[in-house]
Amino acid sequence: MNEKTDIQSMDFKELTAYVTDVLGEKPFRARQIYEWIHVKLVSGFDEMTNLSKSLREKLEKNCYLAMPEIARRLVSKIDGTRKYLFRLSDGNIIESVLMKYKHGNSVCVSSQVGCRMGCRFCASTLDGLERNMTPSEMLNEVYMIQKDLGERISNVVIMGSGEPLDNYDNVLRFIKMLSDENGLNISQRNITLSTCGIVPRIYDLAKEELQITLAISLHAVNDQRRRELMPVANTWSIDEILKACREYYGHNNRRLTFEYSLVKGVNDSSEDAAALARLLHGLNAHVNLIPVNPIKERDFRQSDNSAVMNFKNKLEKYGENVTIRREMGRDIQAACGQLRKNYIDALESEE
Ligand code: SAH
Repeated sequence: MNEKTDIQSMDFKELTAYVTDVLGEKPFRARQIYEWIHVKLVSGFDEMTNLSKSLREKLEKNCYLAMPEIARRLVSKIDGTRKYLFRLSDGNIIESVLMKYKHGNSVCVSSQVGCRMGCRFCASTLDGLERNMTPSEMLNEVYMIQKDLGERISNVVIMGSGEPLDNYDNVLRFIKMLSDENGLNISQRNITLSTCGIVPRIYDLAKEELQITLAISLHAVNDQRRRELMPVANTWSIDEILKACREYYGHNNRRLTFEYSLVKGVNDSSEDAAALARLLHGLNAHVNLIPVNPIKERDFRQSDNSAVMNFKNKLEKYGENVTIRREMGRDIQAACGQLRKNYIDALESEE
């Protein structure tokens, strides 16, 4: 492993302490370095041209910038969606996605290499968890894409591979640094964290009083059905999740999102829609319906269009706020984590 200091994962205060106490430099140097890393998005110390040569050498000797390499980049001809495979400094591959919307550019970031949550329909978890990602690695997903695109990233969704609340400290630091006015200064209101529902961490997050949107992957209306899709449901019930959500809402008044992947014949009936409306009644909720993306390792099928519309209409009849997630980048491998998995499988079969 790298014995140098991961200077990119330090927040502004920590960097200031490091630059003054460890490197023995004046505090204004910390401001300059922070700006080079988190605003100008440089990838090497030699680019920090307003620092003295000796300071640049000192940084080179003691610290590193965790810039990944772009292993692959696919650009959709349909809607401009870009999928990136990044090679991290230890060789691990992760996947990030850029989506272009009218309201701005949104990046979907991974928070772990792999995942250990085991959701049945998800490609990211098929090979288990490799390791947590560091704050700098997550920041670099956004930085690299902003640089590659040449346009500002305005929104970030933590919905790529991994369970963000299973890498709580690093993800929290990532969110704070991403929204720091000394850095890229992305509004917390434009950041969404999606979780399968690790209840104790939802309570922890509530106490942070952030302005981010919390999205809960619900996918079923009762615990028995949910356990069939998501092993995490063996640990926490839907009731416990909703209680934590009310607590979260109490702290920051932010509308909650509930994600519901529609699987044909499994969770897409009218009764399911009615039960979902009953569950969410009284919560300030927004439901995001995701027609499931089939993965070849499992035989889940996507609900028919008519079932999706029916589900949406039913929820709306009960007064719920609903959107259907538009499928983006259909021509460049749709389902979450699939591109990464196919890439790694292909590498392994070459060996
Ligand atoms: N671990 C986080 C982030 C996962 S990905 C979480 O569980 O929320 C973001 C969303 O995509 C989650 O709601 C996840 O359940 C869903 N998802 C994963 N694979 C999918 C697939 N093949 N089809 C549809 N939705 C999927």
